[in-house]
Amino acid sequence: MSEFACGKINDIVPYVPGEQPRDRCYIKLNTNENPYYSSERARAYITERVLKDLRLYSDPGCGPLVRAIAQYYGVEEQNVLVTNGSDEALAFCFQAYAKDGVCFADVTYGFYDVFAHMYDCPAEHIALRDDFTIDPADYFAKGKTIVVAEPNAQTGIAMGADALRSIIANNPRNIVVVDQAYADFSVHNAIPLIKEFKNLVVVNTFSKSRSLAGARVGYVIADAALIADLNKVKYSFHPYNVNTVSMLLAKGAIEDDDYFKSTVAKIKAAREKLARGLKGMGFDVLPSSANFVLARTSAVDGGKLCGRLKSQGILVRHFPGGRIDDYVRITVGTDEEVCKLLETVKKITESAE
Ligand SMILES: *Cc1c(COP(=O)(O)O)cnc(C)c1O
Repeated sequence: MSEFACGKINDIVPYVPGEQPRDRCYIKLNTNENPYYSSERARAYITERVLKDLRLYSDPGCGPLVRAIAQYYGVEEQNVLVTNGSDEALAFCFQAYAKDGVCFADVTYGFYDVFAHMYDCPAEHIALRDDFTIDPADYFAKGKTIVVAEPNAQTGIAMGADALRSIIANNPRNIVVVDQAYADFSVHNAIPLIKEFKNLVVVNTFSKSRSLAGARVGYVIADAALIADLNKVKYSFHPYNVNTVSMLLAKGAIEDDDYFKSTVAKIKAAREKLARGLKGMGFDVLPSSANFVLARTSAVDGGKLCGRLKSQGILVRHFPGGRIDDYVRITVGTDEEVCKLLETVKKITESAE
């Protein structure tokens, strides 16, 4: 660190992304990426012509993609804002709405804490119950901005449509940000609620369910007045926030609904197989509505299991030092990857006994 950085940058503890090692070919089940390739139809949009015309700035309003998203969800174009990954959408929300205070679960997406620090937002952590479920009543009438991931990050547990609605309805004077990074693997989606609730910001991503993590495209769906707020933040930071290539890939991905549905269905089926396999080996497995499971075994602790899997060529994620220190988070891969993971875990846990 240099002597020139301001105090906040000296103090901040940045977000730690899951590792993306290039030293060998791993089975990568550590960052909740999609195991299936991006849509072929999406890739076909990236023509020579598009590449030549990268001399031009991207469309700051992301028009073609905004229209595709609006049409897909049956909302108006002014209800949609496209961002550089949903992390950028979340950053805009913290800047626009969280300065007077924000709250979120003690076990959830680690970036919320980093944003709170970065943008000077006093943050309150609301403890999940012992079984890692959310008590919606803990979030009623908080008098501050609320951020919830539904399904929740790290646990994979969904609170369900009724509980989510009750949180939004019980905070009419405050913004409720619903991070839907994993909603496509669940059974409900908050987007239709934006017509009813003017305080609801729904944050979505192409990274997980639409196989475009490397393209960096997210989007917000909310009441038009809220989209106008967030656009003010965007145009005060980075007007050309989404590049032309990524915009076209995302447009193609949302148009290719058959591919999306078939890959999501395969991942959901593999999730059940993974959970069943782990339970069969004596693991505790939290009930997941996402594309990962959080699981622990009494045979090996979470950190060790993660390290041993890595030495066998499989990456999973471990979150040390907090309430989920005993656990590993395993992304749902292809059927073959799930089989290989289960086989390897079996060997490791048997040799640990
Ligand atoms: C992966 C993830 C994100 C970030 O997604 P990007 O769109 O790739 O920036 C946001 N929130 C949660 C809960 C996530 O798991």
